[in-house]
Amino acid sequence: MEASVGKEASDLFVGQYNDAAGGVTSVRSNPKKGGDTLLLENDELFGGPLRRVAWCSNGHYLAQRPLFTLDPLFHAGAYYVQEASSMFSEVAMKAIMEDAAWDEGKLRLLDLCAAPGGKSTHILSLLGKDSLLVSNEVIKSRSVVLADNIAKWGSHNVVVSNNDPRDFKSLSEYFNIIFVDAPCSGEGMFRKEPETVNEWSMANVELCAARQRRILQDIWPSLAPGGYLVYSTCTFNHFENDGNLEFLINEMGAEPVDVAGFAGNSEYGNILKTSHGGFQFVPGMVEGEGQFFAIVKKSTLCGEKSRFRIPGMKPSGNLLKKFPYLPLQEYDFELKGDMVKAYPKGLANEIRFLETKLKIVSSGVAAAIQKGRDFIPHADLALSEAFSEMISQGKLPEGINAVEVSRDDALKFLAKEPLVLSGAPLGYILLIYKGVGLGFVKNLGNRTNNLLPMARRIRMSIAK
Ligand code: SAM
Repeated sequence: MEASVGKEASDLFVGQYNDAAGGVTSVRSNPKKGGDTLLLENDELFGGPLRRVAWCSNGHYLAQRPLFTLDPLFHAGAYYVQEASSMFSEVAMKAIMEDAAWDEGKLRLLDLCAAPGGKSTHILSLLGKDSLLVSNEVIKSRSVVLADNIAKWGSHNVVVSNNDPRDFKSLSEYFNIIFVDAPCSGEGMFRKEPETVNEWSMANVELCAARQRRILQDIWPSLAPGGYLVYSTCTFNHFENDGNLEFLINEMGAEPVDVAGFAGNSEYGNILKTSHGGFQFVPGMVEGEGQFFAIVKKSTLCGEKSRFRIPGMKPSGNLLKKFPYLPLQEYDFELKGDMVKAYPKGLANEIRFLETKLKIVSSGVAAAIQKGRDFIPHADLALSEAFSEMISQGKLPEGINAVEVSRDDALKFLAKEPLVLSGAPLGYILLIYKGVGLGFVKNLGNRTNNLLPMARRIRMSIAK
């Protein structure tokens, strides 16, 4: 610690480590689903008033950690539980947009090490609807969890993939921004998860540093000239942090990018600047756990914009001209097996192109299942941004009625326990909890068919 962050920071950390076990819990609200207002109005769920995370506009510290599993808003994607220091993506995105003087337009982003989805959901909240995020995770089981968390967040402009960093060779100079939140030795989480101390060894640090370097080397060619890479770890040692930043600068020709006013004593606490231009969060100096991040830029020698050209593809919407649940003018529809997928019109070609290059876990919106002449609304549709907007405007599509449910009924639905909606119209019903879409049931009068996927159900007792 002393060699990496200096004696003063090291002493502060050790002091905090010994007396503040556990740290504080924080969440980030979903601006497309009630945002901060919804959380602030319901702060009793979190044991009292929330406090803002200084570097993240939707980030909040909780007075108490609730049992998230028993909060329907958590399942509806109204917020994401994320450690405060990890909420630096907003700082990085703002610095990049300023440095590049981009007025967003159509950016292509990659979150290379994305599961379970903290950075990806955050990045999606910061992106305009014409930009596209590829959210990738190399470990298959983790990529499924990632896809689930992204579906709950509700964004459309995202593709979830399950690829090794090497596989991105076929997307040479494709991305404008790449996030590499690398697997690391996790020293920054020792306070929150003391058992991880036992997994630490110098040999593991060396292994992590070498693996991170390999990942960076593999993915660098996919960054467009003039593009930006954000490298991060949740550890302190300089082998994995500044050492790899130095490698990017010296071996890959990357240029470090500063975040003006971020380091040093400020409203953020005291964030350290490392010798090669990275930023280090040290518990005791900031209200959060250990985190390192650095932004670098690829030289523009080959031209300002990505040279990648997407071959034109024909949208295949004809078949689904009568699809009833999303506005036809805004989406392209495609039938994959019996699943109706909806892609935002401006991104449909690009997403189809990526499907030919990557191992895709999910893309666009899973909108419905076709059964004969019927379209059964898909659970993800209820959680999608499009539906959030329709709910807030009170403009649900024909064929779908909505019912606002109590917490008890919301939990019954989420646990797939029997639910009777007395007085509700028959047919497909969108369940809404505190203004946020939760899922669908088919109301048959004396009972309902629950359309929540089995894998998403709450498994613990809901009798609380
Ligand atoms: N960005 C995530 C978030 O904010 O929720 C956390 C990512 S975690 C620090 C690092 C991720 O890298 C893990 O999901 C891990 O499975 C993945 N990973 C492990 N080995 C990898 C490798 N060789 N290449 C790429 N990713 C790897």
